[in-house]
Amino acid sequence: MIQASSPSFPPFTEEHELVRQSVKRFCLEEIAPFATEWENAGEYPRELFHKAAHLGLFGIRTDPKWGGAGMDWWASAAAYEALRFTDFPSINIGFMVQADLTVPLIDELGTDELRKEFLAPAVAGKRIAALAISEPGCGSDVAALRTTAREDGGDFVISGQKLWITNGVNADFLLLAVRTAEDRHHGISLLLFPTETKGFSVGKRLKKVGHVASDTAELFFDECRIPQRYLLGRRNRGFYYIMGHFQGERLATAMLVLSFMDRSMELAVQYGKERQAFGRRLIDNQVWRHRLAEHRASIEAARWLTYHAADLMNHHAKADREVSMAKLVTTELAQKVTYDCMQIHGGFGYTTEYPVSRIWRDMRLYTIGAGTSEIMKEKLAKQEGW
Ligand SMILES: Cc1cc2nc3c(=O)[nH]c(=O)nc-3n(C[C@H](O)[C@H](O)[C@H](O)COP(=O)(O)OP(=O)(O)OC[C@H]3O[C@@H](n4cnc5c(N)ncnc54)[C@H](O)[C@@H]3O)c2cc1C
Repeated sequence: MIQASSPSFPPFTEEHELVRQSVKRFCLEEIAPFATEWENAGEYPRELFHKAAHLGLFGIRTDPKWGGAGMDWWASAAAYEALRFTDFPSINIGFMVQADLTVPLIDELGTDELRKEFLAPAVAGKRIAALAISEPGCGSDVAALRTTAREDGGDFVISGQKLWITNGVNADFLLLAVRTAEDRHHGISLLLFPTETKGFSVGKRLKKVGHVASDTAELFFDECRIPQRYLLGRRNRGFYYIMGHFQGERLATAMLVLSFMDRSMELAVQYGKERQAFGRRLIDNQVWRHRLAEHRASIEAARWLTYHAADLMNHHAKADREVSMAKLVTTELAQKVTYDCMQIHGGFGYTTEYPVSRIWRDMRLYTIGAGTSEIMKEKLAKQEGW
């Protein structure tokens, strides 16, 4: 039971609860029963994006004019909390990229022409989107990116390479960060890049420790020509747009991670009640009762910090500090919580058949992706004026 979803604060209304219920039903019926099969296959069906879009997952906060629901971050929180029932983080990361890493940027920065061509189909799940910033030589240091777009007539001609791109194999278009001028910070632009463009190719699908069914790709651009009208926002302002939008990405990450901490706790408690050793249930041992109680308290503390950040974001208030703290605290906590939730399962927890092992392994990503813990701490230290 998630105590924090009481009606007083945060203000989860009936509408938010409907989101929660419909997402939960979708996860239990359409995803969880097949998660192990897809996990073993290392991929999941593309149609899941259509089905998730039908629920409204990709446009929760998007203007209804473009097919969105025009709701707030509480609706996103309700959806993420319910998405734990997939038992399948590989799909959640793909959905998160679509819903919170690409759609909001196009919504905010796009012209109506671009919104019609890219935003509406992404919200409708008809076009899969990927966010392509990282490169072999640039991850935390975004301003070091080297993929270039030079102007030629009315076009941009793009050359370079991207790495670690979630949804990269299946993407119909990329939200692509490119270098358009020499200056480190003032020389980056954002482009909307259709992946059918000549000269574009997907290298290998990366083999990872976790999120094994999520498509993570390296991408190559060999003199790819796209019209200049695919520029998103202003030329050479890309770095600042990316930094601004990292707040939404990090808040969504904190919500996703909280959700899977809840799930692994549910699985641990359930197992602790079922499993007998030395004549009693595992959960009757004080060591487990206390360890899980401590985790429950820490998760709730992390949740309220995340909700506080969400509240600030809903009010369009400055939230960098709170979002960075929420990202740092939830993702670090998840390492301990999922470790212990796996531990209580004993040998069964070490098999891939038990979702608790998948969650433990997949949550490892989040102290790295969406801004590493070290970068979060660095940001916080700077904000403190140290
Ligand atoms: C599964 C997966 C999915 C991903 N999906 C995407 C995606 O969809 N789109 C995308 O653009 N990127 C994506 N990424 C890339 C991700 O954002 C980067 O991996 C991350 O930003 C870290 O960059 P890096 O790997 O280059 O590590 P580096 O930046 O090289 O960092 C290496 C280590 O050094 C530390 N470090 C770096 N700088 C400092 C410093 N100043 N002080 C102290 N320590 C420091 C880091 O914290 C880290 O521990 C994904 C990565 C993975 C693994």
